[in-house]
Amino acid sequence: MHAEDTKNPFFHASVLTLYPEMFPGPLGISLAGKALTEKKWQLDTVQIRDFSENKHRMVDDTPAGGSAGMVMKPDVVARAIDSVSDGRPRLLMSPRGKPLTQKRVRELASGPGAIILCGRFEGVDERVIEARELEEVSIGDYILSGGETAAIVLLDAIVRLLPGVMGNQESGETESFETGLLEHPHYTRPQIWEDRTIPEVLTSGNHKLIDQWRLEQAQRITEQRRPDLWAAYLQNQPAKKR
Ligand code: SAH
Repeated sequence: MHAEDTKNPFFHASVLTLYPEMFPGPLGISLAGKALTEKKWQLDTVQIRDFSENKHRMVDDTPAGGSAGMVMKPDVVARAIDSVSDGRPRLLMSPRGKPLTQKRVRELASGPGAIILCGRFEGVDERVIEARELEEVSIGDYILSGGETAAIVLLDAIVRLLPGVMGNQESGETESFETGLLEHPHYTRPQIWEDRTIPEVLTSGNHKLIDQWRLEQAQRITEQRRPDLWAAYLQNQPAKKR
């Protein structure tokens, strides 16, 4: 178990969105939902539109310089952020952001929570990103229609690391990325299925051999599928014999 897992008493997420009805959504079921009910973490939504001072409750306007689409207004977004800012990290879900990693997820999970701004339309006015020092976070190289589903992905990854949320703490430790490797393959009964058997070593009862086999499989799969991760792994293991 990582030391920082134990020190966080309570994770508080505030999601700034034009669609609060999308929450808790998937975060309200299964382990995350149970943890939410048990108050192991807290989720608030803030309707950005409530901070518009325009009589039509406008939150967006046309892009300066022209082009298609609309841009979220800096004044409205800033007021929404300021209404909940209390020292928690301020994130903006954004395809231009730093790609999300398990390392960043773990750091966030060990902190007090997060304020998460969900973009819509073409995105938000650059000045509010600068002025409120928003950390832009991407969940991958593709474009979603809004930041809400990205925020749900981020929170799902965080919440499962919070103390007492995942039944089996250990299973979080061997997961893909935690070791720098993709995970080894899994098998369960029946012993033979469509003429395919479970690898013999796994039914041998020899835990040393099983661990060795799993490590070799993880290395093989990582080398084949993710040369980027494999190179980083090799660099971090200079002394160890593989
Ligand atoms: N015009 C933008 C895309 C806007 S998509 C561009 O080309 O970069 C609308 C909103 O969806 C974004 O403001 C962001 O909040 C969210 N979004 C889209 N793709 C995302 C991704 N890969 N990761 C995180 N958020 C994303």
